[in-house]
Amino acid sequence: MRANRIILFLLVFAIMVIWAFPSAHGAPVLIKLRLADEADFQTATRLDVAVYHKMTSEFSGEELVIAEYEKSDLSALGDAGLSYEIVDEEPWTESYYLVSESPAAEKVNLAEYGRVLVSTETAHFMKISQENAWSVAANGYYIAKVFRRPLPLKYKSTEGTSPKGRYYDPDIDSYLSQIDQDSLFEWTLRLQNFQTRYTYTDSVLAARDWLYDKFASFGIDSLWLHHYIDDVHQWNPVATVVGTARPDKVIVVGGHYDSVVYGAGTNPYVWAPGADDNGTGTVATLEMARIVHENPLPVTVMFVPFAQEEQGLVGSWYFCEWLYYHYINVHWMINADMIAHSVDGYQDVTIYAHSSASYFVNLMMDMANIYTYMSPGYGGQSSGSDHYSFYQWGHDAVFAAEGDFFYGGWHKNFDTVDSLDFTYMKEVVKMCLAALVTEAYNIGYVVGDPTRDGIIDIADVLFLINYLYRGGEAPDPPETGDVTCDGITNIDDVIFLINYLYKGGPAPPDSC
Ligand SMILES: [Zn+2]
Repeated sequence: MRANRIILFLLVFAIMVIWAFPSAHGAPVLIKLRLADEADFQTATRLDVAVYHKMTSEFSGEELVIAEYEKSDLSALGDAGLSYEIVDEEPWTESYYLVSESPAAEKVNLAEYGRVLVSTETAHFMKISQENAWSVAANGYYIAKVFRRPLPLKYKSTEGTSPKGRYYDPDIDSYLSQIDQDSLFEWTLRLQNFQTRYTYTDSVLAARDWLYDKFASFGIDSLWLHHYIDDVHQWNPVATVVGTARPDKVIVVGGHYDSVVYGAGTNPYVWAPGADDNGTGTVATLEMARIVHENPLPVTVMFVPFAQEEQGLVGSWYFCEWLYYHYINVHWMINADMIAHSVDGYQDVTIYAHSSASYFVNLMMDMANIYTYMSPGYGGQSSGSDHYSFYQWGHDAVFAAEGDFFYGGWHKNFDTVDSLDFTYMKEVVKMCLAALVTEAYNIGYVVGDPTRDGIIDIADVLFLINYLYRGGEAPDPPETGDVTCDGITNIDDVIFLINYLYKGGPAPPDSC
C-alpha cells in the first residue's frame, strides 16, 4: 500500500517536472534573419526555421524575415552562415503587428504604444496589444497583423522580365468595352448605403450577403463563403470562374469590403460609408467577375472581396492560409483598394508591389498606357492593403490605387460617392481587367494545343502542318506548338503529336 503511494507520488512528481520543463527544446526565441540569396533560403528551409513575417529590406535583393528558433540551437544558424539577431526572448506573450507609415499618418511615438523590435525605413515590426495597434491605425498608420503560423519560404528573384502583350489588342479591348460605369457608381453607392461595413456590426454581414447574391446574379455557380474566426466570425465571399484551358492555373482578384472610421465625432458602429475605401475595389472585383463569367479565360480566376482588412489584413491572410492548405498555387494576385478619387486633370494611378513582382508591375503599367488615359507610376512596396498577405504567403501580388490619395475622406465620415470620379474609376478597372486578361492568355495554354481550345486533337496537328507548309498562322505562344521542347516548331513536333494521338506515344509535357 505504502509502496504504491510512493510510486504514485513519484509519478505525479515526474509529470509535474515534465510539465514545467517541456523539453530541452522548450525555449524558442524570436529572431530577425537576413536571407541574402537563394542559398540562404535553402539553408533556412533545411534548418526548419519557422518564419512568421517577411519584411521589406532596404538592401536590394535581401529579405529580412522574423522567425522563431530554439535558443539553444541558434549556433546552427551561425554555423550555416546565416546572420541573425534575437529580437524577443519571450515570443508571443503579446501580439505582433507590422506598423507602417501611410501618406496620411500623424506621426506618433510608436514606443509609447508597444515595443518596436525591428525597423526598416518606413515599417516597424512591433510587439503591441491589439488595442494599441488599433490606436496607431487611428493615427493613420497601416497595420498588418502577424499570425503564429509558419509561412512557406520561397525564394523569388527580383530580376524582372518583360510581359507579353505590350501592343494594342482588339480582343482585349472587347473585354474592356463591357465595363459598365453606371454599375460602378450604383454598386459603390449601394455599399455606402449599408451605413457601415465595420467588422463588428450586423450590417457588414448584410453587405457580405449582398455581395454573394450579386455574384450569383451574374450566373456564377462556383460560389461560397470562406469562413474563419480570428476575434470574431468573418467571411470572405469567393466566386470562381474556372479556366477553359488551364484550370489548374489560378489568378486571384480582390479588394476588401469592410470599412472603418476614426476620429472625433465618428462612430464606426453607426456610420462608416467607405465608398472609396473600399467600396470601389469591391465593386471593381464584382464588375470584373461579371465580365469574365460572360467570357471565361483560359485560366481560373478567383474573385474575392476580403473581410476585416482594417484590423490588419486579417481576411486576406486567412484566405491565403486556406489556399495554401488546399494546394492552390496562385500565379498572381491583383488587389484594388481606393481607386476612384481624382482631384486634378492629371489622371495618375499608382501600382504598389514587392520588387520581386516587377514583371506584373510592368504589365499593369503597359495596360494603363495602352488602354487608358491614365499615367501609371510604381509606388514601391506597400504593406497597406491585402496584396501584402499574398506577398507574405509567397505569391506575386500587385496593388492598384488612385494616384491622388483621398486625404480628406480616408477613414472619415466623408468617404462618400460625392467625392469620387467614376469616369476615372472606370479607367482603373480597365487597367486591372486588361492585365488580368492579357496574363491569362500568356499563361493559359496547353503544350500541344496551338488551337487554344484546351484539347489536343487532330485540329492541332493540322494547325502545325498549315503553319509549317502553307504559310498559316504561327502557334501563339510558340510553346503551344513546340511539344518536343527543343525551342523550335518543326516536323518533329507534328510526328510527336501524331504518335501521341494515334500510336500510344507519350503525352506532351505540362510545360517546357
Ligand atoms: Zn482600404
